[in-house]
Amino acid sequence: MSFPAADTDLLSLAFATTPGAITVSRVRDGVYIAVNHGFCEMSGFGREEALGRSSLDLGIWYDDDERRRFVDGLLRDGVQRNALCRFRRKSGEVFHGHMSARLFDRDGEPHLFAVTQDIAEIVRAQQQAEVSEARLRTLVEHIPHGVRELDLSGTILLENPAHARLFGYQPGELLGTSALDLLADPDLAARMTAQVLAQEPNGSGLTVGSYTADMRRKDGGIIHVRVDWSLLRAADRAPTIISVLTDLSATVRAEAERRRYVEELTRSNGELERYAYIAAHDLREPIRTVTSYAQLLRRRLESHGALEGETAELLDYLESGARRMSTVVDDLLTYSRLQTDALPFASVDLGVVVESVRASLARTIAETKAEVRTTPLPVVLADEPQMLQLFQNLLTNALRYQPLTLGHVPVVNVSAARRGNGWSIAVSDNGIGIEPQYFERIFKLFQRLHGQRDYPGTGVGLAICRRIAERHGGTLTVESQPGEGSTFRLWLPDEPPVLAGESGGDQPAS
Ligand code: ADP
Repeated sequence: MSFPAADTDLLSLAFATTPGAITVSRVRDGVYIAVNHGFCEMSGFGREEALGRSSLDLGIWYDDDERRRFVDGLLRDGVQRNALCRFRRKSGEVFHGHMSARLFDRDGEPHLFAVTQDIAEIVRAQQQAEVSEARLRTLVEHIPHGVRELDLSGTILLENPAHARLFGYQPGELLGTSALDLLADPDLAARMTAQVLAQEPNGSGLTVGSYTADMRRKDGGIIHVRVDWSLLRAADRAPTIISVLTDLSATVRAEAERRRYVEELTRSNGELERYAYIAAHDLREPIRTVTSYAQLLRRRLESHGALEGETAELLDYLESGARRMSTVVDDLLTYSRLQTDALPFASVDLGVVVESVRASLARTIAETKAEVRTTPLPVVLADEPQMLQLFQNLLTNALRYQPLTLGHVPVVNVSAARRGNGWSIAVSDNGIGIEPQYFERIFKLFQRLHGQRDYPGTGVGLAICRRIAERHGGTLTVESQPGEGSTFRLWLPDEPPVLAGESGGDQPAS
């Protein structure tokens, strides 16, 4: 082959400017007789270094077998196109190139015209892509979620081992089958397909969605699965759907179990309350009888002048026992009515509530010379009579559980602060305090830490307070140092829950 003279100018322009390496060498000894700028850039050799020497002299070929195969093909066919070969730069760095070459005659002697493109960058990118694909494949192989690829008809094209395991199959066993057949409800298949196909791309241009469905395992068992899918559209292949499947069966079972447990607890609590209510209600009558006969007896004995000595003492015991029983029964009735007498939540000014409690305790406050201080208190959504009851109990306790030492001045502080999505209201005193091991016990029914003689009471007050707090979706806790005083903290959420079964009225009227 030779070039017509008219094209020579154009050819030398292309020779000089092409970014690829162009070389002309003699076939006889492989000596370069022309190299372009692209060759110098790519190989690292200067033009003077290369001209008059062969590629073998310069050590340009990385693998001699590759060179031989290339030259043999060239001599056989006269041409070679885009052969993938490895070369070595002057620096020793090895790179991949695509080499094309053609034989031609020059001055009656065979010469070789070769063009080489450096594809090091492409190879590097490809290697990186292979590494990240391998990493992705390992991830998909090992994640505990089922992953699968479907075509638009629902046929499973790919699945990871977790997908097969989820349905009780061997890895790969589901390939080629329809994912729609796994749905427990055959009617759902059509709806699911329609939903996936109708889904519009989101703001990021992705077509994604999720659904949960009951699916059938190989052994017939039903599992509840969440499917997060995304539609893959590629220019060079048919669209497919990649889905990640999460088995929710255990969560669903646990939730059903929890609901059953709560229902059972609510039911048995309700029964207990009704029982406590009936017992307390029915006890009132005999207590009244005892009280009235005791009164009658007292009057008779007095009129006969016989109320003295041991008889008077025994009658006192009888009366105080009956009084105490009556208080316990009244407290128990209050406790068991908390749910049934409950009012719907409304705005309640806790400042007003605490003021009216303070007024009702005015006598005790005056007698004990106590100081009751309050900071501004919030308006909350609550049941007002229950708030009155709660603060009445807390303030009564704060004033009551004080050292019996002469001259001691009880000091009670009521303050409020925001905490989370609600208010924390603290009632603190400088009283006798509570040992930490009793912090929980005191909130249980009938639990008391003291004898009646020093500190009379029924052990129901704090149980009432905690139930009120809980009914409002809040909490009631205590912090205390024995001998230093106690702080009771009531936390109330801004939005109390709407509780089921709060209609009331299913207990006998008192
Ligand atoms: P009661 O006061 O009728 O005994 P409570 O349920 O109100 O019943 O209180 C339970 C127990 O908790 C009390 O007997 C007392 O031992 C302890 N207690 C309650 N409030 C305080 C307080 N402010 N300081 C110290 N102890 C307290």
